[in-house]
Amino acid sequence: MSSRVVTSRAALTIARTKSDIRAWRKSVVGDVGFVPTMGALHAGHLSLVRRALRENQTAVASIYVNPTQFGPNEDFNKYPRTEDSDVALLESVGAHAAFIPSGSLYDADNVVRVVWRDIAQTLREAAARPGHFDGVMTVCAKLFNLVQPTRVYVGAKDAAQCIVLARMVRELDFPFELVVCDTLRESDGLAMSSRNRYLSSDDRQRSTVIYRALNAAQQLAARQPATTVGQIDDIVRSTLAQEPAMQIEYVSQADLNTGAELVDRATKVSDVKRILLSFAGRIGTTRLIDNVVIG
Ligand code: AMP
Repeated sequence: MSSRVVTSRAALTIARTKSDIRAWRKSVVGDVGFVPTMGALHAGHLSLVRRALRENQTAVASIYVNPTQFGPNEDFNKYPRTEDSDVALLESVGAHAAFIPSGSLYDADNVVRVVWRDIAQTLREAAARPGHFDGVMTVCAKLFNLVQPTRVYVGAKDAAQCIVLARMVRELDFPFELVVCDTLRESDGLAMSSRNRYLSSDDRQRSTVIYRALNAAQQLAARQPATTVGQIDDIVRSTLAQEPAMQIEYVSQADLNTGAELVDRATKVSDVKRILLSFAGRIGTTRLIDNVVIG
């Protein structure tokens, strides 16, 4: 391993190039748990790292704000970049390594992408963010090839991403286990997210309506098994309406097994094994997503 580019802080090795991370990987014996991130780390990310540490001899996280998953009008340039505190947080939980590329992971003349054909017809989040999941799958395929993990840890908060990566791992025969971890929430229910730091304190307060709405739907379905998809949609929307500043992009109910949208409002929730109830919306200029599983 080259001491020029690989630096160790306490027990954390920081790899800055593809050859650094490959060299680190070669030096490691036993199971490797991997947590890909875009940085601006919070307790949600750290819960994934902790689980990776519990279930593997070694845990490595990556920090890379991936340009190919941002749309032209999205927040790539202003996405929070907080490397020093990220490194300190990874050290504090005992991660062994961080892959923090110092430049682009892409060749200047890159043309290859991993694509799920017609994804927008299956996943509501893909319809909302054209090209996003091609970027996610492509960068994850690159990271998986570089890190060669035994297990990869992802958060249920990004439910569509979990579905997409599970499909890619299966169809492209990646040789590792994909582990989906629970969403970590603030004490008032708001799902932790790097984008929460964009929120003004008023908007931060208003954003709590998202989990109140999803939770109200979960409670209704638990109380009344005959609840329909339409009634779930109504209770989510009426709760969200308590905060007029919250602009709804979509409220979606999908069969968690297939990802297929439940379009018939008369369907009883008890007739679907597990429903993924997802929200996407904006408060001010900040886009927030969240989801719960019913059933
Ligand atoms: P990101 O840095 O936003 O790309 O997220 C990196 C990983 O952390 C993804 O697998 C996310 O799903 C996961 N993650 C983000 N927020 C949370 C959270 N609140 N709870 C659990 N996992 C999360």
